[in-house]
Amino acid sequence: MRMKQDTLEQIKVQIRRVKAAGGFYAERLADIDADDIRTQEDFEKLPFSEKDDLRNAYPLGLAAVPTEDIVRIHSSSGTTGTPCIIPYTQKDVDDWAELFKRCYEIAGITKADRIQITPGYGLWTAGIGFQLGAERLGAMAVPMGPGNTDKQIKFMEDMESTVLCATSSYALLLAEEIEKRGVKDKIKLKKGVIGSERWGAKMRARIANELGVELYDIYGLTEVYGPGIAINCEYETGMHYFDDYLYFEIIDPKTGKNLPDGELGELVITTLQKEGAPLIRYRTHDLTRIIPDDIPCPCGRTYPRIDVILGRTDDMVKVKGVNIFPGQVEDVLREINGASSEYQIFIDHENGRDKITLFIETPIKDVEGKAALEKEIRERIKSVINVGMIVKAVEVGDLPRSEKKTTRVFDYRY
Ligand code: ZN
Repeated sequence: MRMKQDTLEQIKVQIRRVKAAGGFYAERLADIDADDIRTQEDFEKLPFSEKDDLRNAYPLGLAAVPTEDIVRIHSSSGTTGTPCIIPYTQKDVDDWAELFKRCYEIAGITKADRIQITPGYGLWTAGIGFQLGAERLGAMAVPMGPGNTDKQIKFMEDMESTVLCATSSYALLLAEEIEKRGVKDKIKLKKGVIGSERWGAKMRARIANELGVELYDIYGLTEVYGPGIAINCEYETGMHYFDDYLYFEIIDPKTGKNLPDGELGELVITTLQKEGAPLIRYRTHDLTRIIPDDIPCPCGRTYPRIDVILGRTDDMVKVKGVNIFPGQVEDVLREINGASSEYQIFIDHENGRDKITLFIETPIKDVEGKAALEKEIRERIKSVINVGMIVKAVEVGDLPRSEKKTTRVFDYRY
């Protein structure tokens, strides 16, 4: 996809702003003059930025405006150590609300809807973003936050929530609870807006069927506003993103070279309008691809698209000399009857050799049935991914569910 001339101009404004503000980007882009960036190729030579850079700017080193213009901060969740603080101006908050409202509209959600929000509120951007978008749209927000399944289901019934916002694993947990309690006929949900992470078609189908809803993948990250920067429409041709606010590139995560549309790689984002903390060529470590625009989306929207997030570049592990990516295992499991969508991969080093154990959930109860299933999966993985794994079948519900993002790979070698 060629960069638009407008986009290039917006980027130059952003570069001038971050350089004038001092701090991290002023240093990183010290040798760069915005006026010398005349083409997409010039832009693609600029250095990347990383989460560690943002972390090193703690606490407010990313601010590209006077601190009195900052109306809010958010902080990214996750790993230990120094958090990464993202400052927002009022315009940033308003822009985020606008982007999120567009996401809800693309999902066919209107002001008549009642939106039950289960992601957390606080420093993390999730809950408050879903809330902002709901209010901007004029829908009724039901701001539950995470946990307390009894209360979630009570409010879902009594407030007649029509939209559920959740992570995929929490949506699955709620779907299972509703089924268990036999209250499905009291639930009015029509749509689920699910934070985009790698989740297989099988898990998607289970959530959709058990809750009786249409599902929409919503994407975002704290460093770039938060959730609400891309979502799929009803045609599920990938997630539309908003190229008037953001510029997306796909690079090879190993070489850093730009990849053509359609090829799988790491998403890199440049913000075009952000004031508080603009980002230039920020590496997300999310794996996806740009959907080539030669076939327009049947919905008629001209916002470009990325594929659903296929995983994290950090999840790629090298075992026994082979690059393994959890999505590949998921694809194998999808084809096999008796294997549920839940799985975990443990990697260990024993007697000088890597050992991979794959735990999968199955409704099969008898020992012979389980053994046959384990054998089938082991052989299928060997032939598709070309690596040997020990397969262990466990009961449905045995593997931990999480309200945050699900971890699939546990590497105990180092
Ligand atoms: Zn569309």
